[in-house]
Amino acid sequence: MTTGTVAAGPTASAPGPAGPVGPGGRPAAVALPPRAERAERAEQAADRLRTAAVDAVAVTWVDNAGIARVKAVPLGGLVHAAEWGIGAAPCFDVFLADDAITTSPIIGGPTGDLRLYPDVERAVPLAAQPGWAWAPGERHTQEGAPHPGCQRLFARRMEAAAAARGLSLKAGIEVEWVVALAGAPQDEPLYPTHGPAYGMHRLTDLSDYLRDVLRGLGEQGLTVLQIHPEYAPGQFEVSVAPEGPVGAADTSVLVRHTIRAVSSRHGLRASFAPVVEAGAVGNGGHLHLSLWRDGHNLGRGGPGPHGLTAEAEGFLAGVLGALPELLVLGCSSPAGYLRLVPSHWAGAYQCWGLENREAALRLVTGSTGERSSAANAEVKCFDPSANPYLAVGGVIAAGLAGLDQRLALPPEFTGDPAAAAPGTVPRLPQGPAEALAAYERSAVLREALGEPLYEAVLAVRRAEGEQYAAATPEQLVAATRWRF
Ligand code: GLU
Ligand code: MG
Repeated sequence: MTTGTVAAGPTASAPGPAGPVGPGGRPAAVALPPRAERAERAEQAADRLRTAAVDAVAVTWVDNAGIARVKAVPLGGLVHAAEWGIGAAPCFDVFLADDAITTSPIIGGPTGDLRLYPDVERAVPLAAQPGWAWAPGERHTQEGAPHPGCQRLFARRMEAAAAARGLSLKAGIEVEWVVALAGAPQDEPLYPTHGPAYGMHRLTDLSDYLRDVLRGLGEQGLTVLQIHPEYAPGQFEVSVAPEGPVGAADTSVLVRHTIRAVSSRHGLRASFAPVVEAGAVGNGGHLHLSLWRDGHNLGRGGPGPHGLTAEAEGFLAGVLGALPELLVLGCSSPAGYLRLVPSHWAGAYQCWGLENREAALRLVTGSTGERSSAANAEVKCFDPSANPYLAVGGVIAAGLAGLDQRLALPPEFTGDPAAAAPGTVPRLPQGPAEALAAYERSAVLREALGEPLYEAVLAVRRAEGEQYAAATPEQLVAATRWRF
C-alpha cells in the first residue's frame, strides 16, 4: 500500500526502459556480481541459516503462467549454487499452469540450460517448514549473461529505469486466499468456517490457524499491516508493509507459500486461484504503488487531482491507459476474467477514482496527517494468478511511459460504474483474447519486456486461452482452483 510518481519529463539523455547500461552492454542493474563476491555473500547467508537449523534452501522463480517453480539445495550446497547457479531448463518459460508445455519463437523446446542463482541476502528460514529456508532466484545463461526471459530480472530492470530518473517506488501486493478442508473432494471445497463475510465468527473459528499465519510471517521478518476475513466463503486477506517493487514481488511469493504451509499443518488447503467457486467473488492480487523522489511521496503536494504531482499524474495516467494490455501480466489465468466482473470489487472498469473500489485504479490518500507517507494508488484488477515480477515490472514500464509523455488523467469517476449509462465507462477486457489483442499493440510492453520474454508470455497466454476457449465457468474454475 503506497504510491507514487514522479519526476522530470523527457530529456534528451533520459535512459530507456532498460535503464543504464554497464560493461559489455549489459544492463548494469541485472549483471551478476563477480563470483568471489557471490561466494562471500553466500557464506555469510549460510552461517546465518545454520544458526536457524536450516538443512536446505528452496530457490523459487515464478513462470509466465504464474506458478512458482522450485529447485532446492542442501544448505551445504548454497555457496556452490551462488557461485555456479543451479541448472534450470529454459522450457519452464513456456509451461502452462496445468504443466503442459507450449513453445515460443525464441524460447522453448527441450534443449539448452540456464543457471538459477539464489538471492542469498533475501534467504529466510521458513517458519512453517522447519529445516527449510527460501530464497528467490533469478536466471542467467551458462555464460553468465542475464537470461532475457527472467521475470525477476525484468522487474529489476524496470526498478532501475525508475532509479535512473531519480525515482523510487514502494509497492505492496495484497494477498487474498480461500481456505478449505484438505480432505474434501477436489471439486467440492468444504470450508472450515461458515461465518459471515468479514465476520468475527470466522476469525474465532480459525483463530489458531490465523495466529500461526501471523506468527510465521512475523518470524520471517515481514511486517503485517492487517489480516481479516474477506467476502467469499472461506476467504481471508493479509497485507504487509510496502517495500521496493522487486522486494514486494518476492514477499508475495513468500507470503503465499507461508500461508500454504501453515494451512497444511492445520489440515487445511489454501487456494490463491482467481475464482474458487464459479459466480462467487474471487481472490484479488491488488498492487499498491507509490512513487518517490528524494524522500518525497509524489502522490502528495502537487497541483493535480487530490494533490498528485504532475509526475505522479503522468505515471498513473500511463498505467490507467495501459490496463487492457497490463491484464496480460497481472491476470495470467483465463479464470481471472471470471473474477473481473462488475460489482465484485475487482476493478472491472478502466477508470480511476478516490477510494473507488469498482475502479480498476483506486486512489488512496490516507487520513489527514499521514497523507505524505500514506498516499498511494491501487491497481485492483490484478489477481493472484499473476507472476508478481511481471505485474510490477509492467506497471512501472507503463507508468514511466506515461510520465515521460506527461500524460494527464482523464476525469475521475465517482460512484458505481455499473450504474452509469452504458458506454460511459469502458470495461476492461472480458477475456484473454481481448487482453492479448491490446498486448500485441503495446510497443511499450514489447520494448520493456524484450522480445524473448514478450513472446514467451504471448505464447503461454495464447495456449491457455485456447485450452479453455470452450470451457464453462465451472470447468475453468475446477481446472484452476488448486493450481495457484
Ligand atoms: N476479492 C475482491 C477481488 O477479487 C477484492 C475485495 C477487496 O476490495 O478487498 O479483487
Ligand atoms: Mg480484499
